[in-house]
Amino acid sequence: MWEEYYSNDYVAAAQRFRDQSQRLMDNGVAYDVQRLVLKEKGPMEEELSIDICMLGDSSANKLLLSTSGIHGVEGYPGSAIQLYTMKEIENGGIPEGIVVAFVHALNPWGMAWLRRVNETNSDLNRNFLSPNEEYLGEPEGYGKVNHLINPSKPPSKSGKIFTMEMLFHIIKNGMRRTKQAIAEGQYTRPAALQFGGEGLQQGPKLFLTWLEEVLEDVDNVMAIDLHTGLGKSGQDTLLLNPGYSQEEIKIMKQSFGKKIAALDSSSIAYRTRGDLHQGLMTRWPDINWTCITQEFGTFSQLRVLKALRSENAWTQHGNVEDIYNHWSRQRLLRTFNPKNDGWRGQLLKRGRMLFEEGLLHLLERE
Ligand SMILES: [Zn+2]
Repeated sequence: MWEEYYSNDYVAAAQRFRDQSQRLMDNGVAYDVQRLVLKEKGPMEEELSIDICMLGDSSANKLLLSTSGIHGVEGYPGSAIQLYTMKEIENGGIPEGIVVAFVHALNPWGMAWLRRVNETNSDLNRNFLSPNEEYLGEPEGYGKVNHLINPSKPPSKSGKIFTMEMLFHIIKNGMRRTKQAIAEGQYTRPAALQFGGEGLQQGPKLFLTWLEEVLEDVDNVMAIDLHTGLGKSGQDTLLLNPGYSQEEIKIMKQSFGKKIAALDSSSIAYRTRGDLHQGLMTRWPDINWTCITQEFGTFSQLRVLKALRSENAWTQHGNVEDIYNHWSRQRLLRTFNPKNDGWRGQLLKRGRMLFEEGLLHLLERE
């Protein structure tokens, strides 16, 4: 089930998005489509692009911004949610006073090549540092865990020893601190996990340039960024950037329910540097932002980490001829995009629901 939404490769996903955009253009719900093309090519020599569809009232000053695939492989479920939502609004349209932008595959290279990072091994959700911030530094404790998560030789498929060593490390250093050290984002080790890049990357640059024009007359934005890999399987958490007061979080819970959680170490998540929403909020401080990262759980954190570790180590040190079909890549894909009907259906339903709640939230804004 759900095969019409969940694509097997980037080529199919992008084509479906463009076809659906065209249908929305034809019936007058959408008014513009754009393609931001990258220099690199995909595994089938295909062109890689961030595809965009604009719907609703082009003169509106309220924008709903839906983004997918900033984490490459996570783009498959993200793409499915966007496609499903776009199909559902084919007949209903968009409420007056709102413009909607669906941005498909913010990291098309990673999506096409089945990686979470981009063509320079950069995690794009750590790449949006504020314009005056330097791409330097690493979290406390990264050095200590480095040899475990970034082995210098390609690891075995079972990874049994790693699991034991990692558990030992967690017992010694604490779960919260270990998670924070690994996930925050580092700017010192370009071939290692969670590298945030040496500077603003090609895709983010194209995206920000496009957004500049779109935001010219906009004063309210509801931003939803779609992710998988964190939390309970099939369940979503709605992560808010730090900086919201307790009072604001309470109001957000009224709009979006109990799934709201702050993006800090008190929830399932952790503090991060340079994520997309922080990047947008610091670049356009005069806009009233509501930013939600919708995270759907897949497997246990250790299993996710193991898949990331082996995929990156095989990429860096494996010398594999057909890396696309290598088990480490295919396993990464299935870790962030499980082939499970129940899970897939749940995602479409919740993804669509948050989109609707986002529209309502915008309508209520002054
Ligand atoms: Zn993600």
